[in-house]
Amino acid sequence: MEDKIYDVIIIGSGPAGLTAAIYATRGALSTLVIGGSRWGGQLQLTTEVENYPGFPEGVQGPELMSLMRKQAERFGVEVKEEDVDAVDFSPTSPEGLDTLRQRGVKVMRVVADKTEYKGRSVIIATGAETRWLGLPNEEKLIGRGVSSCAPCDAPFFKDKRVFVIGGGDSAMEEALVLSKFAAEITIVHRRDSFRASDIMQKKVLENQKIKVIWNSEAVDILGEEKVTGVRLKDVNTQNTEEHQTDGIFVAIGHNPMSKVFGGQIEVDEKGYIKKATSGFQMATSVEGVFVAGDVHDHHYRQAVTAAGMGCMAAMDAERWLETQKV
Ligand code: NAP
Repeated sequence: MEDKIYDVIIIGSGPAGLTAAIYATRGALSTLVIGGSRWGGQLQLTTEVENYPGFPEGVQGPELMSLMRKQAERFGVEVKEEDVDAVDFSPTSPEGLDTLRQRGVKVMRVVADKTEYKGRSVIIATGAETRWLGLPNEEKLIGRGVSSCAPCDAPFFKDKRVFVIGGGDSAMEEALVLSKFAAEITIVHRRDSFRASDIMQKKVLENQKIKVIWNSEAVDILGEEKVTGVRLKDVNTQNTEEHQTDGIFVAIGHNPMSKVFGGQIEVDEKGYIKKATSGFQMATSVEGVFVAGDVHDHHYRQAVTAAGMGCMAAMDAERWLETQKV
């Protein structure tokens, strides 16, 4: 257990968490970021980011995250590369610290890697994680041909044949990254038009190595030790067909990483953390707990919108702490 009481504990270290950290530390709040054992969020798994302002030539996702972390650390933030195991958002007086107890200081608790951290406020910025297809063979073959990260795994598929499932920007990006290595990429989409942005669609549709199978769903992944094929179902005719492939890249969206807060904070039916209906913009159902980024936002889900929310959450936390007058 750590004795230190932080003004704010930020859980998560993607654009939302690190921007919150920059604002909180510049606002002279003692700040701890519990950033996860794989810190940096989804941008660590991506390649070129062309739409983050300030980088006219684009920037690599991991480089952008390193720059954000350096900027936050320059102002004195502590970053722990640990995963949060449990939280207790019921504010209680810190034991053994009588002067603080007399002054009415209340703390919330966050346990990560067997250490308990105490904070007067919390910002949840845990982001979202890969949504898998849920097919029987899928989990078994992750790392054996099933992947959700082309920037990580594409080199293993040099001159091979791969499938990408999905129709959003992630699927386009996976296919484009794979096209630098694989011989042939097939995108499988369940409808007859992509959800992805026009610019990404254009790049994909103009790429000679990439073809598209429309109106189809993956219903089975084939292979024992490694992926050997995929069975697709035409959603109009219900006919199924087997295709040989060496790899399957799943890019069908993400789920919010909110499980660890279960029962302590209000979430919607998909697990996204809800904002409070009144009070501070980024407040949640628990006083003193704020939210930012993809763990709340299922609509925009951009690095820059997450960063914007991180800024708002930190400013809200600072103003809320001022109202506590302790
Ligand atoms: P998304 O936009 O939600 O797209 C998910 C895609 O997967 C949709 O096409 C959806 O089909 C399909 N899908 C969902 N569940 C499925 C299932 N069970 N079986 C088959 N297909 C399924 O998610 P995303 O592509 O991860 O993008 C998320 C956000 O990040 C977006 O705002 C996107 O713009 C952003 N992003 C941006 C970039 C970039 O700018 N470079 C790169 C990656 C992501 P339907 O279309 O039929 O719903």
